[in-house]
Amino acid sequence: MEEAQAIKILTDLLAINSANDHEGLIADYITVLFSEYSVEIHRLSYSSGRDNLVVTIGDHGPLLGFSGHEDVVAAGNLTNWQTEPFTPTLKDGKVFGRGASDMKSGLAAMIVAMLNLLDSKKELLGRIRLLASVGEETGEYGAAQLTKEGYASDLDGLVIGEPSNFDVRVTHKGVIDYYVYSKGICVHSSTPEKGQNAIMPLIEFAQAAQQLMDSHQKKDPVLGSFTHVVSQIQGGSQINSVPDSAWLSGNIRTTPVYPNEQIYTELEQIVADLNKKGARLKIRYSFPEVTLPDQSQTKLAKMAQKVVEQEIGRPSEFVAGTAATDASEYIQAGDFPIIILGPGAGTTDHEPNEYIEVNAYLDGCRLYQELARQFWNSLD
Ligand SMILES: [Zn+2]
Repeated sequence: MEEAQAIKILTDLLAINSANDHEGLIADYITVLFSEYSVEIHRLSYSSGRDNLVVTIGDHGPLLGFSGHEDVVAAGNLTNWQTEPFTPTLKDGKVFGRGASDMKSGLAAMIVAMLNLLDSKKELLGRIRLLASVGEETGEYGAAQLTKEGYASDLDGLVIGEPSNFDVRVTHKGVIDYYVYSKGICVHSSTPEKGQNAIMPLIEFAQAAQQLMDSHQKKDPVLGSFTHVVSQIQGGSQINSVPDSAWLSGNIRTTPVYPNEQIYTELEQIVADLNKKGARLKIRYSFPEVTLPDQSQTKLAKMAQKVVEQEIGRPSEFVAGTAATDASEYIQAGDFPIIILGPGAGTTDHEPNEYIEVNAYLDGCRLYQELARQFWNSLD
């Protein structure tokens, strides 16, 4: 494919405003790109206008997954942008626009790599499955849906095209956002014995949870400490009433040393203990994400490093990520290696004037194509 055509695919994707919605338009666009080839296309709707898309090329051999999210974060305050966020603008060798780095350039480069392989007229020695997901930025629920429906179950390896500056991100922390709701009985505060105070058990919960979470002192060698913060607390409605409802929220960043399952059990035990003493607490999690355990010893990670050196001519490091990705969902589908590797330095992600260097994007197109080829050969 000509460079101009590859760049057009990127700018076309950037021109679609898929800020936390409308991923269906991205799915439409990708479907058209592949429509003249004999490939397998599945569309999986999350909700109205929000569609995941799965495109598989090749009909035999090892299956490499390419993962990209179709959504972007909101543009934010437009006065801080020097260009229109959804009018991709080429300037000084860069393309500016919301999602240029995170991660429509990764998504577009994966698509270009697949189209180039299809156009090469050579027999494909393996398969690639593009998993284009909705809602990554607000809870990875597209990837969760794709995982649940089995689209990741038969993968032999997976590359997540988030911006990594062509380093290979081999691990990241998990996240547990939780809410605890407390119920009481509202009465006049002059007769508290007739009611039930919803705030007090919540305070007990906060103290017990903090103490227990603080005892998790063992560090992951790469990701460092497990952390826990009680981040919000609210309750009651009037100074002279016994409060009948209250809630708090907490944010936990997990490491493989303390897996999410263990933490759920611990938090739920605190709730159960307090409820046994008469409290009426309920805990709810908001899109928890598991960690990506260290992948640096996998063949895929080592191969990716070499392909970066060969295709881009610079060394590539194994690095750790701070934020969760769609990997947190796909990893639950089976036992295959997952790495995060993509164009873009990530310095302008979620900020005004987000950009990608055109050369980095074009490097990404070549890199993904070569990585797929080598991956297919390595598993033969
Ligand atoms: Zn992203």
